[in-house]
Order: sequence, then structure tokens, then C-alpha cells
Amino acid sequence: MLAGSPDVLTPAEIKAGLKTSLIGKNIHYFKETESTNIVAREMAGSVEEGAVVIAEAQTGGRGRLGRKWLSPEGGIWLSVVLKPRMQPLHAPRLTLLAGVAVAKTIRSYGLPAKIKWPNDVLINGKKVCGILTEIGAELDAIQYVVVGMGIDANVDMETFPGDIRDSSTSLKNELGNDINRVEFVQRLLLELEVLYLKFQKEGFSSIMEEWRIMSATIGEWVKITTQARSMYGEAIGVDSEGALILETSDGKLEKIVAGNCEHLRRAHGS
Ligand code: ATP
Repeated sequence: MLAGSPDVLTPAEIKAGLKTSLIGKNIHYFKETESTNIVAREMAGSVEEGAVVIAEAQTGGRGRLGRKWLSPEGGIWLSVVLKPRMQPLHAPRLTLLAGVAVAKTIRSYGLPAKIKWPNDVLINGKKVCGILTEIGAELDAIQYVVVGMGIDANVDMETFPGDIRDSSTSLKNELGNDINRVEFVQRLLLELEVLYLKFQKEGFSSIMEEWRIMSATIGEWVKITTQARSMYGEAIGVDSEGALILETSDGKLEKIVAGNCEHLRRAHGS
């Protein structure tokens, strides 16, 4: 890091060199907050699309189903407010889109990032990013979507408790050195914007195609747990909405829209 350019994610640092025209025009910065998603949801009604909430640390970071998301200093904890014209049922598309944006950004550092269905980005099987999408909607119209991304950037893995340390990694851990987090955020916001505008102009299929190419789940033997049941099978694909297609051990095809996914082993030994 150059003297005089401390590694802080302040709006001034991020905006200097940010190449977007929508995402990140307004950035709300916190040294510490409970959760950037909570702040973003609170302000969603009064800010323009593309507003970003970013924090150096979160005291109450959350994953899906209220799970705890560790968010120490050194990571990148940010949420983006979007206001797409689409039906609430299509909101999961934005989770997949964000996964593609994060994975592409990590790949630009030469790391083999892949996406675990539906919402984790992995490096060599270890989680480096979680994505939490929350919506505000009225009947069949979306008012806002908050896409939260938590990236273990310059996180020291020793600070994580044992079980999470075993299943996760950080960019610093993979690269052997700190990354410039400001540059990472600039690249990520640009990837997000490019994909989001493409999605609005051309539809979702090309985004889904990029997702498939970077998928860690397709071809895996998986255990799926939904609210109703558990299933085992081979993840053979995703449909145009991002639902996982599972071929169960008795040869049936199942479509899973939402659930927990555990990778068990490679189905074809590759
Ligand atoms: P799983 O990781 O079991 O597939 P999930 O993807 O549904 O679950 P999320 O809700 O996205 O999980 O994230 C919460 C889980 O991620 C926590 O239960 C914990 O195991 C793990 N975790 C928490 N904080 C971090 C972090 N900073 N980096 C990586 N993993 C974390």
C-alpha cells in the first residue's frame, strides 16, 4: 500500500477511479454497523437506484435463514439498492447475477472462483463470499431489491472459529498478500453494473449461461434440504430461472427453487 493511501473504503477513495454510471454514484460509508443490508433496506425508499452501503465491519452480519455472518475488519461488506422493473418471483435472478459479478471479480485476481448454488462463491471448495438478497415488494411489483455481498478479502483466517475456518477462505489467504480493497470494490461495482444493464436490455439467459460456466455445483453429488424434505442426487443443471435440477438416485428429476445444498462428492470423479 502506498503511503498516503490507507486501505479504507471511504466514498472518496472508491469514487476516484470508479467507472460506473449507476452503481456507486451514492455511497454510504460506516466504520461499523449492524448490517449493511439493514441500513440499505431502511434507506431504500428514499435513495436512487444504485446506492451502495459499505462498512469496514458489521456487528450483526446475517446469512440466509438468520444465520450469523462473521464480518471483521479487512473484509468487504457491502449492499447495493436496485429498483428493477420485474416481478418479485424473479428476484432470485439478482442473487445469481451478483454471484457471477463476484466470481468474475475474484477471477480477475487469477483465483479459480466458482459459484455454489445458489448463493456462495468458493475458491477450491472453500467459501470466500456469501450473498443475501432481500426485497421490498407490493403485491406483484418490486419496490426495491437489496443485494448484500460479504467478501472475505483481507481477513485473517485464524480469527475465525474452527468450524467456519475449515470451510472458508479469504483472498489474502489464497494470494499470500493483502489485496487493495478499494480496487476490488471498483472492479466489483463495474462487473455488477455491466451485468445488470445487460440483464435489463437482453434478458437473463446470457447471465445464466455465465453462471453455469462458473458453477461449482453442476456435476456434484449433493444433499438438498428444503423446508419439507431432504433429497440426494446429482445436480445436473439449472433452469432458466436458476432453479437447481437434481437427478435423484432413483432416476427422477426434481426442480429445487430454494433450499440448502451440500456438496458430497464429484458425481463423475472429475
Ligand atoms: P452453507 O455455507 O452451509 O452452504 P448457506 O450458504 O446457506 O450455508 P449463508 O446463509 O450464506 O449460508 O451463510 C451463513 C453460514 O456461512 C454460517 O452458518 C457460517 O457457517 C458461514 N460463515 C459465516 N461467516 C462467514 C464468513 N465471513 N466467511 C465464510 N463463511 C462464513
